Amino acid sequence: MLNIELLRQDFPILASQVYARPLVYLDNAATTQKPKAVVEAITRQYYSANANVHRGVHHLSEVATDLLEQSREKVRAFIGARSTSEVIFTRGTTESLNLVASSLCSTFHEGDEVIVTAMEHHSNIVPWQLQCERRGLRLKVLPMTDEGELLLDRLDSLITDRTRLISVAHVSNVLGTVNPVADIISRAHSAGVPVAVDAAQSVPHFPVDVTELDCDFLAFSGHKIYGPTGIGVLYGKEKWLEKMPPYQGGGEMISSVSFEHTEYERLPYKFEAGTPDYVGANALGVALDYLQSIGGMAEIHAYEADLTRYAMQKLAGIDRLHLYGTSPNKDAVVSFLVDGIHHLDMGTLLDRLGIAVRTGHHCAEPVMTRLGISGTVRASFSFYNTREEVDQLNEGILRVMQMF
Ligand code: PLP
Repeated sequence: MLNIELLRQDFPILASQVYARPLVYLDNAATTQKPKAVVEAITRQYYSANANVHRGVHHLSEVATDLLEQSREKVRAFIGARSTSEVIFTRGTTESLNLVASSLCSTFHEGDEVIVTAMEHHSNIVPWQLQCERRGLRLKVLPMTDEGELLLDRLDSLITDRTRLISVAHVSNVLGTVNPVADIISRAHSAGVPVAVDAAQSVPHFPVDVTELDCDFLAFSGHKIYGPTGIGVLYGKEKWLEKMPPYQGGGEMISSVSFEHTEYERLPYKFEAGTPDYVGANALGVALDYLQSIGGMAEIHAYEADLTRYAMQKLAGIDRLHLYGTSPNKDAVVSFLVDGIHHLDMGTLLDRLGIAVRTGHHCAEPVMTRLGISGTVRASFSFYNTREEVDQLNEGILRVMQMF
């Protein structure tokens, strides 16, 4: 069992006040707060282990390189990848998906197809659209129900002999729906189609094992899993990464360069041009260690799932409040609107009560179009949130409703 009161002390920012009220931070899907261990690891490295990695023969460079490579191994173990060659450090989910889009799609041909779903974040739509424009590819969309569940039955008929990739959110950042990615992967694979998983909202909340899932690519961001900003991960099966051309050129990603010819580095370095964010990568490893040390992802999931159910029940009891994303397979995100109150007004007034939520389209405009709304108010949870905070959200909403 997680000891939440104790764990909250690891996150100094949670004790802060906003407008002279205790902060209730419910914007974890946007970014999570950082435990002391992560912040201290960053400081410690800059004070005692800072040097550019891989190239140096000197002691500090070796220490920094070891920290980076140890972190790669921690990520590998955390997501169950077979080899560290399959773990590429990027700037975040967005860059990971852009890497796959620009590199993998360069092997596609005009008329080839990529399938995404109706509940994608813009970062799992626009990179494919860019490639569609550039290469004459076709983007197809798997639709969803009003409750926010994918119409899986439609998948088989969407897949054709021109389908080259399916890219799907593991968990919707608006609706919280946990998509049946294992099922999608097995259907796709039986048609010989690889699958990329946008795991920005899943890896921080429950155990994800890429080998078990058998996904071909998986992307997530460090800052959403208690690590620093500017670091992220792309997992890719070696068989694809070997075939894919580099994403960017520069130092670190080559084994030899002449004006006539360049040989690329082995995996994963082929995809890591330039000085990597080695401090961020190390701190991400520390964040993953921290999550294991407090009980691991299964414990975290059990706690957050209970909190999400509690929040859904509480908010469902408010008259004139509409919940968006009501699938029973749901995780850590609650989106809602109250009749007659614009989401921005609700968010702004909740903020005045010390409650941090997000409002708007949450970088998923097609979801809003599908639901016929312009935005929602979104509360999103971490293991450091409590039922008391959900109660405060509930009371906050009621107070805002009284003002209108
Ligand atoms: N995909 C999903 C589902 C997200 O929720 C987000 C961020 O909110 C992203 C992708 C993009 O992540 P980042 O901005 O860290 O690259």
